[in-house]
Amino acid sequence: MRILLIEDDPPLGDGLAAGLRQAGFAVDWVRDGESAVAALAAERFDLAVLDLGLPRLSGMEVLKRLRAKGSAMPVLILTARDATTDKIAGLDGGADDYLVKPVDLDELAARIRALLRRAAGRAAPELRHGKLVLDPAGHRVEFDGQPVELSAREFAVLHALLASAGRVMTRGQLEQSIYGWSEEPDSNALEVHIHHLRRKFGAELIKTLRGVGYTIPK
Ligand code: CA
Repeated sequence: MRILLIEDDPPLGDGLAAGLRQAGFAVDWVRDGESAVAALAAERFDLAVLDLGLPRLSGMEVLKRLRAKGSAMPVLILTARDATTDKIAGLDGGADDYLVKPVDLDELAARIRALLRRAAGRAAPELRHGKLVLDPAGHRVEFDGQPVELSAREFAVLHALLASAGRVMTRGQLEQSIYGWSEEPDSNALEVHIHHLRRKFGAELIKTLRGVGYTIPK
């Protein structure tokens, strides 16, 4: 799951990006409002963590432009502004959640998971598909009641495909959900992860649509 972090404070941004990657998200980080608007227009993210006090364009203006374009992507405001009037303005301005700094990273990750779940129309925390159960919070996967060991990348690929079950994910979309901008994917790494997942869960779980991408049929 790919997150755009919009934060101008370098030490805080570093800590947030590292913590969210540790929690299993692919994180891209921009440091001002105009870069945020450009990134959101150019690429697809599953969620944005938005600071309000930003250079070049305020967080509220970024949010306003995003919603004016009809985007339903979840936005979590993370700011030092703790006044009730700011919270009301943020939520009524189109944000889905509002957290005040300093933030506990575990709570931030849990709120992000909750927003992603709701955005996908799910209420249950686990993703289920036949005998397969994936728990995003615990980073656990079970198949036929037995725990299955997955690498962090394999987990991210499976999570992205299960979250979009019934829809085709292009190679680019899948790569974006497992790598941030700072990491350059190997040319055949995705095929290797898919191969490992098929070996663990059966060849028929993930379908290849040649020249298009991959899908887990519903
Ligand atoms: Ca700031």
